[in-house]
Amino acid sequence: MEHYCIYCGRRGSPENPVVNGVCLECRRRRGELVTVVRRRLEAEVCRICYAVKIGGQWIDSDGLADAAALVARHWYGKAVRPGPGVERLELLGIEYVTKPSWRTVVRYRLRGSYGGRVFEEHADIEVYLRPSKCPRCIMYDSREFEAVVQVRRIDRGRVENALTKIFMSDPRAARDLIDVVEAGGGIDLYFYSHGAARRTARGLVKKIRGLVMRETYEEAGMRSGRQRARLYIVVKPR
Ligand SMILES: [Zn+2]
Ligand SMILES: [Zn+2]
Repeated sequence: MEHYCIYCGRRGSPENPVVNGVCLECRRRRGELVTVVRRRLEAEVCRICYAVKIGGQWIDSDGLADAAALVARHWYGKAVRPGPGVERLELLGIEYVTKPSWRTVVRYRLRGSYGGRVFEEHADIEVYLRPSKCPRCIMYDSREFEAVVQVRRIDRGRVENALTKIFMSDPRAARDLIDVVEAGGGIDLYFYSHGAARRTARGLVKKIRGLVMRETYEEAGMRSGRQRARLYIVVKPR
């Protein structure tokens, strides 16, 4: 029987349950309710538009505070684990311990259950943001891209599925794809060529029911003595 705490000797109770020979209060005092696995999280942030690179993708943010919160939220499950005997640890929210900047101490506010008793706890980690430049800003500066397919308000899984099929059957379109960037609640696909963008957009309309595409052009300066036009294609539900 393990009804007594090995540290304080008290008998377990509904208010202060004993699990694996340790009571809730002793776990809290010893800082064992939450295990911080990674004290330091890092991510690149675009110093022009504040997009943040998370899991290989660039995601729009409203600034350093927002970027730090996005990073902390995304890596929450990797940064923090339930301590011994703790069940159902969940994230209640995120607070800033230091003023949000390129280096920010972020506090996870957490709730969990220990021997059936619900508790709240917090854990602090550091988020380091490295100034960088996102592919979209690089492209806007270099003005190299020729066409953008802006996919809006369509289920991400279905879009990814359709794109995989389109690029498998049209390797030239895949080769002309420069980058995929999260934007406006959807994704922007940047292409070197108008043709690849148009074929990709048509492929999406064909593969996902109820979509429409709309093309617009923007003048993009001269190249090799010819006036260039940049093509924008919006693909969205009808
Ligand atoms: Zn105890
Ligand atoms: Zn940027």
